[in-house]
Amino acid sequence: MPSDPQVVITGASGLIAKNTIAEFLRRGHTVRGTLRSLQKADDVRRAVSRLGADPESLSFIVADLTSDDGWDEAVAGAGVVVHSASPFPITQPDDPEDVIAPARDGTLRVLRAATKAAVARVVLTSSTVAIFYPSGRPIGHVYSEEDFTDETRPDLTPYFKSKTIAEKTAWDFIESTPGAPELVAINPSFVQGPAVDADLSTSHELYRIMAKGTYPAAPSISFPVTDVRDVAAAHVEAAFQPGIVGNRYLVGEGMLSLYELGQIMARELPDLSSKVPKFELPDFAVRAMAVFDRKLRTVLPELGEKKAYSNAKVKAELGLSLRGADEAVTAAVRSLRDLRLI
Ligand code: NDP
Repeated sequence: MPSDPQVVITGASGLIAKNTIAEFLRRGHTVRGTLRSLQKADDVRRAVSRLGADPESLSFIVADLTSDDGWDEAVAGAGVVVHSASPFPITQPDDPEDVIAPARDGTLRVLRAATKAAVARVVLTSSTVAIFYPSGRPIGHVYSEEDFTDETRPDLTPYFKSKTIAEKTAWDFIESTPGAPELVAINPSFVQGPAVDADLSTSHELYRIMAKGTYPAAPSISFPVTDVRDVAAAHVEAAFQPGIVGNRYLVGEGMLSLYELGQIMARELPDLSSKVPKFELPDFAVRAMAVFDRKLRTVLPELGEKKAYSNAKVKAELGLSLRGADEAVTAAVRSLRDLRLI
């Protein structure tokens, strides 16, 4: 890899991407971001400025995961490609292919173009949802990078399937394609930390929904949490560190329930304390309600088990010390108030 490679990042308008772009720029790199529409370019420039980076070395190019157009130009001359774009809907679609096809085929489009352009390394933004749902793990299993979700499980949401299939597709491509780039996967958990602008990620949208008092009670589900600033740092480390090729990195610190997220929001913004969930729903009630409420279907695989996991690998090999879950959620809700979004 050249000493100062051109960096390309897909889905530059995403929360993780904006923070990762800012981290690359702060470290002196030149970054080209892909967008579905250049209309978002100025917003991304403003966001990275707010994150303390100079957007002078940031450019944009249009490419959509659902089309072949633009990908060769997007990655031309790049040393590193961070592939972060993927559909991340808050409501699951009727047809799973609506999210699976862009995730899977988009990943292939990026990898094919990167191979043609002799890109040295691709860093793929995967997810803990591609780790936490294998088949046949006993209760109490400690999840890690060794685990891969079984995409054939009938209880998985289309989004969970899309992330799993996209990551498996990427590893298969690298394995079977001569001259393919090196691959490293980053598998973040539920991403918190500060929002930068009003173009919210699905993970921040949750607080807007809670702040409206939409959910007086919460399903009894817990998930690992991470801060977007740590996720960004993980991507940048993964782009350049030698000796980590072929690895996946689970990024998460601590575990919080939906009810606890609401309690942190109420603690930080007491005027919203009457809006957050007041108690946890029994699992059977959630299963029954999910028949009618499509948003609830997302949580069904989470019911009944508080998962344990290890984040030892990302700390040891990428040298990261991760912010705690409470700090990440506190930063999220305070930023949304600062932006007057809740
Ligand atoms: P955002 O919703 O903020 O970003 C999603 C990005 O993907 C946007 O830039 C969006 O573009 C882009 N995108 C969606 N569909 C397409 C498409 N067809 N073609 C091109 N670009 C597309 O979410 P995050 O930043 O949180 O997510 C970024 C990545 O991180 C995703 O891969 C997501 O799965 C993953 N992830 C997120 C977690 C979280 O909790 N937030 C946890 C683990 C993984 P546009 O602005 O045009 O919609």
